[in-house]
Amino acid sequence: SAASADTSSLQSGTVVGRFGKHADVEDASGQVARCHIRRTIESVVCGDHVLFDAPDEQQEGVSGVIEIVKDRQSVLTRPDFYDGVKPIAANIDQIIIVSAVMPSLSLNIIDRYIVACEDIGITPVIVLNKVELMDEATLSETRQQLADYESLGYAVYFTSCKTQQGIETLNGILKDKVSIFVGQSGVGKSSIINQVLPDAQELVGAISDNSGLGQHTTTAAKLLHLPAGGDLIDSPGVREFGLWHLPVERVTWGFIEFRDFLGGCKFRDCKHLNDPGCLIREATEMGKISPARYASYHKILTSMEENRPSHSGPF
Ligand code: GDP
Repeated sequence: SAASADTSSLQSGTVVGRFGKHADVEDASGQVARCHIRRTIESVVCGDHVLFDAPDEQQEGVSGVIEIVKDRQSVLTRPDFYDGVKPIAANIDQIIIVSAVMPSLSLNIIDRYIVACEDIGITPVIVLNKVELMDEATLSETRQQLADYESLGYAVYFTSCKTQQGIETLNGILKDKVSIFVGQSGVGKSSIINQVLPDAQELVGAISDNSGLGQHTTTAAKLLHLPAGGDLIDSPGVREFGLWHLPVERVTWGFIEFRDFLGGCKFRDCKHLNDPGCLIREATEMGKISPARYASYHKILTSMEENRPSHSGPF
């Protein structure tokens, strides 16, 4: 097997592009080789650290072979009709949940993304884009609503691609990390990526061009280097990242402030709603859990029950 083969002639690299049967692998010097993937390898995704057989010199076309995929520190998956779940990106350090205050801010959707992030062990950052569209009153109301999140340890930033507010701060957050942007269509993910990576227009465009087969069959993904250090992974699949494939227990676990109270309810199958002896409801009544988050949790469970089993999308 590949694992027992002599690997001394192989080079280390990172997968920076993934499309069809091929992957682009970048070595330590920044040179990129287009590679085949050894058949025995189950999956190769953007962000993977690999050992590959590199071409002797830079060549046109497909010239390398990925032999080994190293263990992943984190992996983003999406539901797959045939395989259960499929990896879509690896070794991500940070997930930026983008939301927009206009036309409307949905804390419930933010909560859904948070659950999905917590499920893979990543603490997300929340970005509220289009801040320049908010008046003073809306801004202060929004800040109050988001205080819950900050006290849970989720940093919140306000940005505007129109006025550049918050973009420098965002550059600082992205530095030296591998990040992805998630969030609903129209919130401004592409616009933000264009701000932090001025050349990205073309790359994002190239990704969309490959998506003619429909969103679930699209595999094109790219890892992009930021000028100030750090990387972004972007693809249509990454943007579809969601929680709709998770079992209820993992959704509950994704509400991190519930964790202290889990296992203590009177009934093992407690739904944390009107069940007697529910510690989570009691904690909410005592002000230890935000009522808004508690309500949002139930809204997620209800919608999951209604939608399952379906393959129509994360929300
Ligand atoms: P995506 O679907 O999340 O990638 O969103 P886009 O980046 O395509 O942005 C959707 C729309 O919102 C576009 O018309 C953008 O010009 C607009 N937009 C993005 N950022 C801002 C912003 O900060 N302020 C305002 N007013 N509009 C924005």
